[in-house]
Amino acid sequence: MLKNDMLEQWDRENFFHPSTHLADFARGEVAHRVVTTGDGCHIEDRDGNRLLDAFAGLYCVNVGYGRKEIAEAISDQAHELAYYHAYVGHGTEASITLAKMILDRAPDHMSKVYFGLSGSDANETNVKLIWYYNNILGRPEKKKIISRWRGYHGSGLMTGSLTGLELFHKKFDLPLAQVVHTEAPYYFRRDDLDQSEAEFVAHCVAELEALIAREGADTIAAFIGEPVLGTGGIVPPPEGYWPAIQKVLQKHDILLVADEVVTGFGRLGSMMGSDHYGLKPDLMTIAKGLTSAYAPLSGSIVSDKMWKVLEQGTDENGPIGHGWTYSAHPIGAAAGVANLKLIDTLGLVKNAGETGAYFNKVMAEALGGHAHVGDVRGEGMMCAVEFVKDRDSRGFFDASEKVGPRVAAALLEQGVIGRAMPQGDILGFAPPFCLTPAEADEVAEKTRVAVSLVLG
Ligand code: PLP
Repeated sequence: MLKNDMLEQWDRENFFHPSTHLADFARGEVAHRVVTTGDGCHIEDRDGNRLLDAFAGLYCVNVGYGRKEIAEAISDQAHELAYYHAYVGHGTEASITLAKMILDRAPDHMSKVYFGLSGSDANETNVKLIWYYNNILGRPEKKKIISRWRGYHGSGLMTGSLTGLELFHKKFDLPLAQVVHTEAPYYFRRDDLDQSEAEFVAHCVAELEALIAREGADTIAAFIGEPVLGTGGIVPPPEGYWPAIQKVLQKHDILLVADEVVTGFGRLGSMMGSDHYGLKPDLMTIAKGLTSAYAPLSGSIVSDKMWKVLEQGTDENGPIGHGWTYSAHPIGAAAGVANLKLIDTLGLVKNAGETGAYFNKVMAEALGGHAHVGDVRGEGMMCAVEFVKDRDSRGFFDASEKVGPRVAAALLEQGVIGRAMPQGDILGFAPPFCLTPAEADEVAEKTRVAVSLVLG
């Protein structure tokens, strides 16, 4: 186990942690944790705490911790060839094999994969490809991207703009002008409580149509969405949402980007979220589950329709002016190949569907009756518990009461990691796909206890 009595001091003095209250951390008012190891659904820290990680890191360690097969593939690749670039036709056995494996798992109309390192950079790539595509087609005005409030697409300049959460915009001068937001498909938070799910879908469609009419369809290039809203609250779409939205996009010749960073490679119990909800995207974003986060790797999967135009573009303009030094990094690619093989060998997509359904059932049973639980929802290995002050009026707590973070802290006290989602009192879960029914029971029971400790 790692031992260094200076670590906490070094951490607070030197380390700029993402998504952290910087001043509280520097003052020592936010806990610091040194994570040392993990196996299956558990991590351990240097103080000897063993925690059931029911959020799989940041919903990314899909195969679970401590998988020797992936560690060995990374080690073998590092010994054989740690790096070579992918520019002007270069590749490695791992990167070429992985591109084939990804396309084998993507919908039939997808054609090529461009590799990046993070979900954020993959979405930056997507926006550049969309703009390039419309320039090649002689539509220089058709450039705006529609995203949903509560969507999460990254933290860069463009991707932070696509993200529809206030925290990611405030004081950063975002969103940029080319991004416009529309209604989140969040039935539980509808304004009109009398609205049926079908009426709410019609409302989302009407909002989208109105936005397109206001901006002008000839200025709108694409619509980006996660099949299931993730960081915005873990919200499966209402019945009929995606078919209705896709109809509008087709009518106005607007491209669809399916951001599958969370849902890709099995989290919903289907290989891709696009399969799960019948999406026909023009671009797909993949990251997290591609390597189960054993190494950083992401991808933009490009459809046949867009690929033909990209080829035309390079015939007319020369090589595509887009590349990262670490695109298709061999170590990430080797991790990806081993990870996708392991998902197949262990039948983890099936387990995500089956144990995920069981997990959602026991969570609903354990929490659904509590006076301050307004909603328990989920799909596959995703689940959210949303807290309300009053169930009948669906009144929410004031954010200053920090109900979500307090429940997450009480849960952690019992050795289970859930995530207080950033906007609203929502406790999120997205366990590794190897979660067992016994572990699902444990998470449900400990969440029930944590909720009763905080909310009575
Ligand atoms: N897209 C989605 C749906 C995500 O959930 C995330 C991260 O959580 C991203 C994009 C950004 O990925 P990254 O943090 O790897 O940049």
